[in-house]
Amino acid sequence: MTTFRVRYAPSPTGHLHIGGARTALFNYLIARKMGGQFIIRFEDTDQTRHVESGVSNQLDGLKWLGVEWDESVDIGGPYGPYRQLERLELYRPFVDQLLREGNAYHCYCSEADLEQERAEQEAKGEMPRYSGKCRHLSAEQIEAFQAEGRKPSIRFRVPEDRIIGFTDKIREEVEFETNGIGDFIIVRPDGIPTYNFAVILDDHLMKITLVIRGEEHLTNTPRQIMMYEALGLPVPEFAHLALILNQDRKKMSKRDESIIQFIQQYQDLGYLPEAVMNFIALLGWSPKGEEEMFTREELIEQFDLDRMSKSPAVFDMDKLNWMNNQYIKKADTARIVALAIPHLQRAGRLPETLTAEQQQWVHTLVALYQEQLSYAAQIVPLSELFFREEVTFQDEEAAAMMKEEHAPIVLGSFLTQVEQASELNVDALKAMMKAVQTETGYKGKQLFMTIRVALTGQMHGPDLNVTLHLLGKETVISRLKKLL
Ligand code: GLU
Repeated sequence: MTTFRVRYAPSPTGHLHIGGARTALFNYLIARKMGGQFIIRFEDTDQTRHVESGVSNQLDGLKWLGVEWDESVDIGGPYGPYRQLERLELYRPFVDQLLREGNAYHCYCSEADLEQERAEQEAKGEMPRYSGKCRHLSAEQIEAFQAEGRKPSIRFRVPEDRIIGFTDKIREEVEFETNGIGDFIIVRPDGIPTYNFAVILDDHLMKITLVIRGEEHLTNTPRQIMMYEALGLPVPEFAHLALILNQDRKKMSKRDESIIQFIQQYQDLGYLPEAVMNFIALLGWSPKGEEEMFTREELIEQFDLDRMSKSPAVFDMDKLNWMNNQYIKKADTARIVALAIPHLQRAGRLPETLTAEQQQWVHTLVALYQEQLSYAAQIVPLSELFFREEVTFQDEEAAAMMKEEHAPIVLGSFLTQVEQASELNVDALKAMMKAVQTETGYKGKQLFMTIRVALTGQMHGPDLNVTLHLLGKETVISRLKKLL
């Protein structure tokens, strides 16, 4: 029996993008579900787009998300190397076979020749494609080109009048006419194979049984199938994932600012990886029931290519934030504190190293807002009131509350209580509120909201006693005095 083997094959051109993360995740989930293997290899033959840290960026991003792999550049494996530029030797026999059997040929056309050809075709209103000019060069012509010093590329000879069909596991029956496809380059003049050629050799040599990738590769598939056939190699199965659209239902582009595009950014902002994984899993896959929250193990159990959507997935940032908030609410506070601290430090609100007391303080602060956080970085705007020199009132209504008749009475009484207290802990504050109530006769909103607005500027907010405890005696006294 053949082992189920799938792969993710990014070009190391930068950070891990949402689309790439989804492809990797789906491959990983199905591999685990099927008890197969998941391979990550790098398509680095396009050196103009090469980024030095591209490989580690991809792997680090996936590791953070919780995706695991069985073979790659970092852990090796029996089918390596896992970078195309290190595999050039392995491709050579296949190039020779195609040339020998007449399924490929040398093409001496220069960029300028091709440009001219394209222009002529466009002028005639034809779809531009390579005319096949070098298909039947004579020995003399070849010699003449070589004497000129031209370096040939190698093109695949596309068979005429054929229909290439395959059954895609998501898109079902797909067909392409070969007459629409010009002979395409498989090896560039510098000897480096192009994507379409290298990818089939890697998939073959790495014994990949199912290719899961983005829909943008659908039109590459007939080219790849023709080459498998020409080489007499078995063709793997294919599953092409529908596009991901942004919130305006337009194709997601890397410049789009309405959504966060890179996994690293989610990590930096303090999203929880299990929430991001859960969310990405729903981009094109739908679970059986109503439930949408899944652990990694549940995703592995439930994931199924039969439940993939043919129509594009819409990336809904609000839903991601909602989902991340659900996970944050359930998370251990200490974990959220660890994510929040660097943001408070960067905002200049905490020193580089924290005393035990400061650590305790920030723990209480984060716990106060944990329910509200969509991601850890939000602690900075949410907790602003603790760090401001002066109270600013959120609106006129709040400011007006301070002018009401009862305000100075309540606040004056509260100030006396605070001044007498040794420290502002939650129990002490409860007792003080009672005392103010007894002394002034004000209660409910007139008591609590007055104190809240006076000290925070806000009419509503998290637990008042904890808020006052965090502000501390000194700040409470100085804010009250300024106001009175
Ligand atoms: N390097 C290609 C990409 O990043 C991989 C395509 C494939 O999976 O065949 O889109």
